[in-house]
Amino acid sequence: MTYTGGPLNELNGKMGISAPFRSVPIMKLIRTHKPLSKDALVQLIAYHYTNECPCGIKSQGTVEMFGRNLYESQLVYWKEYRYSLKECIQWEYDLFVVQSLKGGTIEKKAIDDFNGVLKDFSFEEAEGFLDEDLRIDIIIKRNAIEVGGIQVKPLTFKSMRQEVISFNKKANQKWCKPVFYLYYDKGEHFINRDDIVKEIQNL
Ligand SMILES: [Zn+2]
Repeated sequence: MTYTGGPLNELNGKMGISAPFRSVPIMKLIRTHKPLSKDALVQLIAYHYTNECPCGIKSQGTVEMFGRNLYESQLVYWKEYRYSLKECIQWEYDLFVVQSLKGGTIEKKAIDDFNGVLKDFSFEEAEGFLDEDLRIDIIIKRNAIEVGGIQVKPLTFKSMRQEVISFNKKANQKWCKPVFYLYYDKGEHFINRDDIVKEIQNL
């Protein structure tokens, strides 16, 4: 469950960590570049930190850096560290990325789609931002047990790689579950959804 309330909310507000001039004018960034996924938004923020984009928006850092600012401000505000760096980064990620995009992501669209078709499974949004090894977008469950994952990628990702539609990459050694790649085109249509539905039915 995404959670941006509580003491970290107070700290963030009082210390002005997410003030647009100290971070990034996030809604303007979203309106301007219309990212379709959380991952795309994370990259957009980083891009506007390191590059001079013609749109004129400048970010003062990356999501990780905003998290670090929040982490360090604890010492000033509380005279002690109450939350880990990891928790602080996750909190800023939830604020800037998850909350900002709300229901409008391509991942949500895919989840609704799969939940409608595959009744024996449930599809949920994956939430950890920092777990690089498990950077998947959607978790597939059967009887409440995780059986696989889905990465949602723009078609341009695939054409960069000269691969035929390739699923079934293992997320990592720890997880050992199949990860499917769902591709969408410029019109936000999923181009290999039916293939993935078949693969999941065979899990
Ligand atoms: Zn821009």
